[in-house]
Amino acid sequence: AEAQLRQIQKLDAVGQLTGGIAHDFNNMLAVVLGGIELAKRRHAEGSDEVGRHLDSAAEGANRASALTRRLLAFARAEPLLPQAVEARTLIDGMSDLIDRTLGDAIRVETVHDSAGWHVWVDRHGLENAILNLAVNARDAMDGRGALTIATGTTTLGDGSVGQCVAGDYVTIAVSDTGCGMTADVIERVYEPFFTTKPVGKGTGLGLSQIFGFVQQTGGEIGIASQPGAGTTVTLYLPRHAAAPPAAEPTALPDAALPH
Ligand code: ADP
Repeated sequence: AEAQLRQIQKLDAVGQLTGGIAHDFNNMLAVVLGGIELAKRRHAEGSDEVGRHLDSAAEGANRASALTRRLLAFARAEPLLPQAVEARTLIDGMSDLIDRTLGDAIRVETVHDSAGWHVWVDRHGLENAILNLAVNARDAMDGRGALTIATGTTTLGDGSVGQCVAGDYVTIAVSDTGCGMTADVIERVYEPFFTTKPVGKGTGLGLSQIFGFVQQTGGEIGIASQPGAGTTVTLYLPRHAAAPPAAEPTALPDAALPH
């Protein structure tokens, strides 16, 4: 509980800090990029050495700009717009995107238990979380292996996963056959900026962002991992008893409503 509180305070502090810095930093980068662009134009055909240097400077600045945009999105803590979302439908709707993100050498499988369970979440936030988990799985598998996304439901007791409150939860479990994590890594994964990936590849914000999202949704997150064998990250989101479309049409935006 202590560690979790520290985690949340740290997320808060990072949010405030990055919000203040990222915005100004992005403006400065725009100046740098503008300068490079002008220099390239004056230099005409950028096919020689100077042109190459300018290109790599632009590439670096663009990468830095992408990172600050991620930091801004992280700091902004955009207001969540919760609605009834069927976990199964949301994940099926992402399958093309996930296939494309993971490439041909990774087999993707989705497993849903028979009923369609609803959660009360910000749809965009949940999609983001799942995509982030899929990207982490891809990176852990070094381009080949199997990814499984499973939805289901479970009843948890008080504190049986993290700080959860007793109740019914929808589970979304993302499993990979990748490199796995050591206990030391598992202990630190929710820390903002903790990453084991090379500079330019990892930001260390993925899991801390998911952690924040899941906390705000009243859920929990669990990790089971074995070095060399693979990892399962499970999101536990409070189960929502969805009203029938006729009674609350706005709760089910994807349902085809009779005119
Ligand atoms: P990033 O992906 O940018 O490094 P994350 O917060 O998403 O940031 O992840 C932090 C670290 O946790 C990763 O650098 C990696 O070491 C570890 N990790 C996350 N997901 C997995 C996974 N599926 N398999 C193995 N390690 C993982």
